[in-house]
Amino acid sequence: MMVTAETLQHEIPGMGLKNQGIALVAPKSAQDIDPDIVAHELGHVAGYTGDWDKYHSKDVTNLMFHYITEVPQSPDKQWCEKVSALAK
Ligand SMILES: [Zn+2]
Repeated sequence: MMVTAETLQHEIPGMGLKNQGIALVAPKSAQDIDPDIVAHELGHVAGYTGDWDKYHSKDVTNLMFHYITEVPQSPDKQWCEKVSALAK
């Protein structure tokens, strides 16, 4: 995982690339790192495929929903299986 002070494409808070890693825009402190953003980007690293576009879910309660929201989100079965496979 890389943390950068630079602005990422489209001013997003993080970016995950399949089989490569995660880049996060540096928060003010390490305590401000949002674990949901890290988990979302980990889904991209694991190769999550969605029904909203190629990479995201259109379900607002899904951790892989495209936009940041205040709605509580959870990983789905695909996220769990693909992220678990990274550990093997
Ligand atoms: Zn995403």
